[in-house]
Amino acid sequence: MEGGKLIIFSAPSGSGKTTIVRHLLKQNDLNLAFSVSATSRPRRGKEKNGEHYYFMTVGEFKKHIKNDDFLEWEEVYRDNFYGTLKSEVERIWGEGKNVIFDIDVVGGLRIKKKYPEQTLAVFVKPPSVDELKIRLKKRSTESDDKINMRIAKASVEMATAPQFDTIIKNYDLDIALNEAYGLVKDFLAKPIAKEDKKGTEK
Ligand code: 5GP
Repeated sequence: MEGGKLIIFSAPSGSGKTTIVRHLLKQNDLNLAFSVSATSRPRRGKEKNGEHYYFMTVGEFKKHIKNDDFLEWEEVYRDNFYGTLKSEVERIWGEGKNVIFDIDVVGGLRIKKKYPEQTLAVFVKPPSVDELKIRLKKRSTESDDKINMRIAKASVEMATAPQFDTIIKNYDLDIALNEAYGLVKDFLAKPIAKEDKKGTEK
């Protein structure tokens, strides 16, 4: 696989990364298209198949793993698999666009490792874990148990921030949106450096 650029936004859920990604998708000059992930988690609210996620059963997801169809995949929560299909990235590159991802930190870092020069990996930092809890409760799309599971994971995820190319502090949304736009714009303006991939693999 080779092609355009990859822009990754990773963060604990509730950090505001989805809002940032949606904002960037509206900026036509960036020529971005959203990578729709596959997931085995149940559909929430008004989510649409093929738009928010490709929803599938755990069995279907495991079949794709076996066929080596994923660029990366992760069991983010128990029996809730998430992954990026290679075909999704190829489809977007085929349209001459750059890919933007809204994925978890492990998946984000995996893609960065596979395509170090083509990828900008951004970590979105929420003000605090307490603030995350408030945001997730406000969203009220899930049970308290599920929210607590996400909070527990958030502390672990926060520790991975230094491994990203850059960190955006989402304390003030307007500032974070502007910062994200500038970072992506600059990264897209740079040519892809020819690099020795082997030298960057850990
Ligand atoms: P949610 O259930 O809130 O939509 O997503 C839960 C977590 O899974 C979020 O952190 C989200 O970014 C992450 N996620 C979504 N798609 C993918 C993917 O394709 N791969 C990985 N590794 N994580 C994903």
